[in-house]
Amino acid sequence: MKTLLLLEDNLERVAAFRAVATNLGENWNIQLWQDAPTMLAECENYLENAALISLDHDLNPQPGVAGDPGTGLEVANHLAGYLPLCPVIIHSSNADRAWSMHNELRFAGWRVDRVGPIGDDWIPKLWLPKARELLAMTKDEVVFRKPDDHIIRLKRVFDSLKGLAIGDALGEMLAYRHAEAPHIIRTGLPAGPWFHTDDTEMAISVVDVLKLYGYVHQDALARRFTWHFDRQPDRGYGSMTRIQMREIIAGANWRDTAASAFGGQGSMGNGSAMRVAPLGAYFADELERIVEEARASSLVTHTHPEGVAGAIAVAIAAAMAWQLRNAPENERTRRLFEEVLRFTPQSQVRRGLLLASQTSPELPIEVVAKSLGNGSLVTAPDTVPFAIWCAAQNLNNFIEAISRAISAGGDCDTNAAIVGGIVAACDAGSESIPEDWRTACEPLPFPECNQTPP
Ligand SMILES: [Mg+2]
Repeated sequence: MKTLLLLEDNLERVAAFRAVATNLGENWNIQLWQDAPTMLAECENYLENAALISLDHDLNPQPGVAGDPGTGLEVANHLAGYLPLCPVIIHSSNADRAWSMHNELRFAGWRVDRVGPIGDDWIPKLWLPKARELLAMTKDEVVFRKPDDHIIRLKRVFDSLKGLAIGDALGEMLAYRHAEAPHIIRTGLPAGPWFHTDDTEMAISVVDVLKLYGYVHQDALARRFTWHFDRQPDRGYGSMTRIQMREIIAGANWRDTAASAFGGQGSMGNGSAMRVAPLGAYFADELERIVEEARASSLVTHTHPEGVAGAIAVAIAAAMAWQLRNAPENERTRRLFEEVLRFTPQSQVRRGLLLASQTSPELPIEVVAKSLGNGSLVTAPDTVPFAIWCAAQNLNNFIEAISRAISAGGDCDTNAAIVGGIVAACDAGSESIPEDWRTACEPLPFPECNQTPP
């Protein structure tokens, strides 16, 4: 089935589009939106089958529909956050805005052209030949690999992402009073909204790519990272990430920006570990696959073996949190560490994990942080063993896991993001998130993350 994604508010035009769609070939289907906000909210679900997109710019409110109908430029801007998927026609008489839409998509690499809606029969006379011309050109090479149980996997991904975002936001908010965090968490947190930071922004990009492609498409991931960064650069990104994002936006290839970080050593920062728990949730029953996908997701920004090892360890930990959801509680910590150690490559990260696996939950948190690190160096080896230790001890207790992680100080938002992403991948962990924490957290761009679980 090939789908024409159509943004058009005028019903006479819609009827004309429907009439000519049969001339595009067999098995064509039209997916219509009459306003931009609805198209923005829904179009990801149709991108895989999109064979052509046609966009109007000026949109009038529909009878009986409240709210601003938005414009086609918003949709062009949104699509530019993805790698090209199919040709686009802009069919607006608003010449200035049509050029803006054209540029938005052209600079993002999309095959795009314009048709002026002139006369009564422009859809069969002008639009249809243009559509055929664009469709006859070389196809964009897009490979989707969504597994049959994609939707089930995404449910786990959204659980993990929600936990990650809550941990991130709480860690950021309590960082400067970290020693008092357990007391503040017990006695009353500030009212929302609690804002998330770069950890969640980058995890959202990972989820965007898994949701659309079913695997880590690295070029698409780099595009999503920069698209989110470009819109909200003040989310607390680290300085090296800011440099990399700006260079990619200016036209550099992520392979070069990632490889040249820190004088060519590549980054061993905790940035690829902080965003990867939802990936572990997606591939939760394929641990070997996680090693490959987590590595691929890390390499877009963090190529140093320690950075890669940190991402693999966190993704495996999130997968194990899900796998162990029905395991006896007294076995969970040991079994989680066993698999994390089995799959994490030899590295400082792994040595720290080995030590973490032998570290008693009874020790005071300062002692644990002194031995395992707490992220104050912002590196993977200084962050990942401690965060996985906090999570592994508390897979059914989100409050305790986050409380302990934050109370150690260091890179509080990232520690808590990793812990939250892992613990929430376990059913009991996700269910133990207080309802008011869920609602206090600023909304995520996936409706599933903002709904109250039954
Ligand atoms: Mg952060």
